[in-house]
Amino acid sequence: MPSKKSRWSSKAFRDAYNARRRKRYAIDAAYRQKQLTLARGWRANPTHAVALERYRVKETKRRKKQWHNDPEYRRAHFYFQLSYRVKAFEMIGGAECVRCHVKDPRILEINHINGGGYQHFVKSKTKSLARELLRGDADLSKYNVMCRPCNALDYIERRFPDIKGLASIRWKKHPNGNKPPANLL
Ligand SMILES: [Zn+2]
Repeated sequence: MPSKKSRWSSKAFRDAYNARRRKRYAIDAAYRQKQLTLARGWRANPTHAVALERYRVKETKRRKKQWHNDPEYRRAHFYFQLSYRVKAFEMIGGAECVRCHVKDPRILEINHINGGGYQHFVKSKTKSLARELLRGDADLSKYNVMCRPCNALDYIERRFPDIKGLASIRWKKHPNGNKPPANLL
């Protein structure tokens, strides 16, 4: 008679078991809540700190490798982050460059009106200004929306004031006919 342990040594058995649990997790709110509470308790237990750290290191390594090898992963990451930026743009005047009025969200950025963006980034924990704005603990009047070329020009003008007014960004044609691509978001 096979021991109970032998079932778990079969990958097919483990995969089927985990698939059942994932399905239940997706549809059963009470079950999900129970699992979340259990996981939180497990993480809060100091005796699990070593295992937790080992998992964190392993997972970071895996993600870095995937980022390096998988263009689809990088693309998905970009559009996922962009979805937060688009919401943040709406909070500070809409998804449109204040200088050249281009509206393609892929190339829009949140600009610090009085500079200091780099220092802000260094000090920021999340490294995402968009999420900081969305959390609601930032002074919205300090920011506006600019496209990447205009933002570069804005920086140069602030750094070297004698250059101010000598250049501007002019598109031969705004990308995507001045509208975000239809398949976006
Ligand atoms: Zn612009």
